[in-house]
Amino acid sequence: GSILEIKNLHVEIEGNEILKGVNLTIKGGEFHAVMGPNGTGKSTLASAIMGHPSFEITEGSVHLDGEDVLEMEVDERARAGLFLAMQYPSEISGVTTSDFLRSSINAKREEGDEISLMKFIKEMDGVLEDLEIDKNMAQRYLNEGFSGGEKKRNEILQLMLLKPEIAILDEIDSGLDIDALKVVAKGINKMRDEQFGCLIITHYQRLLNYITPDKVHVMMQGRVVKSGGPELAQRLEAEGYDWIKEELGIED
Ligand code: ADP
Ligand code: MG
Ligand code: MG
Repeated sequence: GSILEIKNLHVEIEGNEILKGVNLTIKGGEFHAVMGPNGTGKSTLASAIMGHPSFEITEGSVHLDGEDVLEMEVDERARAGLFLAMQYPSEISGVTTSDFLRSSINAKREEGDEISLMKFIKEMDGVLEDLEIDKNMAQRYLNEGFSGGEKKRNEILQLMLLKPEIAILDEIDSGLDIDALKVVAKGINKMRDEQFGCLIITHYQRLLNYITPDKVHVMMQGRVVKSGGPELAQRLEAEGYDWIKEELGIED
C-alpha cells in the first residue's frame, strides 16, 4: 500500500492564511474521516493537495510514497495514484462521461497498454450497476445537467474505475438523499482492501453510519485539532463542535 504524508501544511488564498499547519498521514488500507465546521479549511486541504492553482502553499510538505506531490503537475498527481472527488465537480461540455472515464484510465497506463473498448465497457457497466446508475448517463456530457446526486454518484463511478492508491472525497455525501447515500457508501466500501487509502471529508456524521472510518480528525480554524476513532464522530453528531472549542479554548 501507499502512504500519503501531509506535514505542517500552510496554505494561503489571496494572501489569507487558511491552513495553518495541517499534519495527517494516510496509509493504504486505512479510511480516515476529516470533519469540522464550515469554513474551516477542509476543501482547501483537498484542493491544495490536488494542486488547484488558487491555493498557495507557503510552508510544509505533501509526499506520496516519499515523492514530493507538490512538485508534480496536476496530471502527474493522478498518475501517481491520487484521486480527488470535488465538493463541486465541474461540467465538461462536449465530452461524454464514458469518453472522459476511458481517457482518464488510459492516462494512467503506459502507451501501448491502453484498456480495450470491450474491457472498458464491461468494467463500466459493472460499476454502473453497482451504483444503480442509469446506463444512459455514461453517454451524457460529463456533469452537464446532472443533479447533485448524479454528480456524486459519478464521482464514485470514477473512483471505482480509476482505482487510485489514495482518494480524497470532499463532501461526497452532500445533497444526497438516504438511498443515494447508501449506494455511494456501498461503492466506497467496495473499494476497501489492504492497498486502498481514503480521506473522507464531511461536515455531517451521517455518511459515517455507513462507512466506518479507522480514524476521525476534527479540523478547526485551519488545523487538525483532535483525532480519535469512530466514537469521535458519534460524539460530534450528538453534541456538535462546541465542546471541542471549549476544550481547546477556541473562540469563533
Ligand atoms: P470548508 O471546506 O471547511 O467549509 P473551505 O476550505 O471551503 O472550508 O474554506 C476555508 C476558508 O477559505 C473560508 O473562510 C473561505 O471563505 C475561504 N476560501 C475558500 N476558497 C476561497 C477562494 N477561492 N477565495 C477566497 N477565499 C476562499
Ligand atoms: Mg464548506
Ligand atoms: Mg468544503
